Amino acid sequence: MPGLKVQFLGSGDAFGHGGCLQACILLQWEGRRVLLDCGASAMISLQRYGVEPNSIHGILISHLHGDHFGGLPFFILDAQLHSKRTAPLLLAGPVGLAPRLEQAMEVNFPGSSQIQRKFATQITELAPGPAQDWCGLSVRAAEGLHASGAPALALRIEAAGKSLAYTGDTQWVDDLSPLLSGADLLIAEAYFHERPIKFHLSCTDVLARRGALNPGRLIFTHMSQDMLAHVGELPGETADDGLELIL
Ligand SMILES: [Zn+2]
Repeated sequence: MPGLKVQFLGSGDAFGHGGCLQACILLQWEGRRVLLDCGASAMISLQRYGVEPNSIHGILISHLHGDHFGGLPFFILDAQLHSKRTAPLLLAGPVGLAPRLEQAMEVNFPGSSQIQRKFATQITELAPGPAQDWCGLSVRAAEGLHASGAPALALRIEAAGKSLAYTGDTQWVDDLSPLLSGADLLIAEAYFHERPIKFHLSCTDVLARRGALNPGRLIFTHMSQDMLAHVGELPGETADDGLELIL
């Protein structure tokens, strides 16, 4: 399959607005598969869209809120108990991912973090800075402004000669511009339509910077009811569960 295939397995906010599943974006290129974010509903996403969990090579996490990383304990337990995974599982996310994942596993399934697994879990903690190779792609991070007990990252990945930038959840900070600019696809949070909300982007925030960021294609995601009420009247595309495209 040429190019970079992007499929929204979950396009919602934390609260199920619009009936959408939580953040979970499947990236496929040259026989590899990575999830970009893994919200608490990620296993439902995989089942709904027929994605075999063992076909996922790695999971890249933007920040440590449940609607973005809360699916990891379920993914890991499924890998151990049902999918019988043997291949290493590569995880990458903000500094602090390793201890927070252990805590999340213990809160949800006490004892689960200590059980011997038949596969290795390799955790890479990403800091803002130069691009690094991870799971067959190039990934670069910048720190946004979103209180989550650890740095919240905006991410830029390059794979199959294509670039994808993802805001994650963040209030706008100018430090994000270099990372988000000029990508073939910009996936941007649009939590509210116009109303400024601390620690989040509105659709208006993103559109005000669209010219400067100059994405090849722009897709809004992570929409609350307020934003969903404007879908169809916006100068831009909106994600929906199941939406797929090829860059
Ligand atoms: Zn979120």
